[in-house]
Amino acid sequence: MVIDTQLEKEIIQKRHFLHQHPEISDQEFTTTKFLTQELKKLGYRIITPSSLNTGVIAEIGKGQPIVGLRSDIDALPIEETTHLPFASQNTGVMHACGHDFHMAALLGAAVLLAAEKDSLGGTARLIFQPAEETHSGAQEVEAAGGIKDMDAIIGFHNKPDLNAGEIGILPGGLMAAVDQFKVVFHGIGTHAAMPQLGRDSILVLATTVSALQSIVSRSEDPQQSAVVSVTHIAGGNTWNVLPEEAWFEGTVRTFSKSARQTAQERFKEIVAGQAASFGVRASVEWIAGPDVVNNDEELTRIAADETKKHLKLVFPQPSNAGEDFSYFSQRVPSVFAFIGSNASSDWHHSDLKVDDAGLLPAAKWYYWVAKRFLREL
Ligand SMILES: [Zn+2]
Ligand SMILES: [Zn+2]
Repeated sequence: MVIDTQLEKEIIQKRHFLHQHPEISDQEFTTTKFLTQELKKLGYRIITPSSLNTGVIAEIGKGQPIVGLRSDIDALPIEETTHLPFASQNTGVMHACGHDFHMAALLGAAVLLAAEKDSLGGTARLIFQPAEETHSGAQEVEAAGGIKDMDAIIGFHNKPDLNAGEIGILPGGLMAAVDQFKVVFHGIGTHAAMPQLGRDSILVLATTVSALQSIVSRSEDPQQSAVVSVTHIAGGNTWNVLPEEAWFEGTVRTFSKSARQTAQERFKEIVAGQAASFGVRASVEWIAGPDVVNNDEELTRIAADETKKHLKLVFPQPSNAGEDFSYFSQRVPSVFAFIGSNASSDWHHSDLKVDDAGLLPAAKWYYWVAKRFLREL
């Protein structure tokens, strides 16, 4: 019998330890060692494939169905400014996305599942996934066979604007598809006083950055969510020379295949059209990031039903942020939730302070939903 107050105390301590020892993507060696030890103590079979340098995969129970529970484990290259007593001890690295919260919650669920290991009705497979922030870890896990034979997978992200104990689930798209772009205009450099002798890469960049906003306002379906953000521009290095090249980069966020496709097509047409009209050459680099985190309708219905028996179920606002859990959700029926962390800052902020009061509900959410799926799938 696991006592709530005792479990809560333990997982808060574990989160604080993990928070003190953050590691960036694919370098989570201390974290991996810690998680492996904790899971071994609880009697889990460690089945981490040797091709994974970091991250842990562990199982308990036996046979089908196999239900996956996923937590990410990496931190960010951010200097922490929280001044918490358990602030990061690794200079310039911080759990500023709250993945420490996710790990501690999954360790809590691990305790609860281990206590019932002979009556689970299947296998619980815990995936502590590396490198979420670089959007490569889920693919690494899949390539290593981590989701093989899996019938369902669940995961969550802490949500600063939800209160501790609130669980947000909805069917369909919860987090956006992420695309990244970089555009270089190749003009002809010249004296600033004699623009007629060159081809101005700065002017075409300026008009293009403006014109790209017409994608969302004039090409996308107004009922569909989409964002185009140019976030970084550069060109030239002094006041009296028109440079040969200027470039910009940024990101597109969408929630449907059609919106994603429209955005990319229109983006390339606008850049090509602008370049042609100014007589310069443009090169476009397009990097497709994670797809939409898409919740399976039926599993979401079951998960929501189970959640509201125990916790406060809310209907969350989808987020334009990306999540590489989508890589799993494209391959295995899945449910991804937002779980309240009641924080004053948002993700990736140096002052992010998640609320420990949200940890036990998060641990129990994993446990209750996994158990229900093990029983019903
Ligand atoms: Zn993040
Ligand atoms: Zn995150």
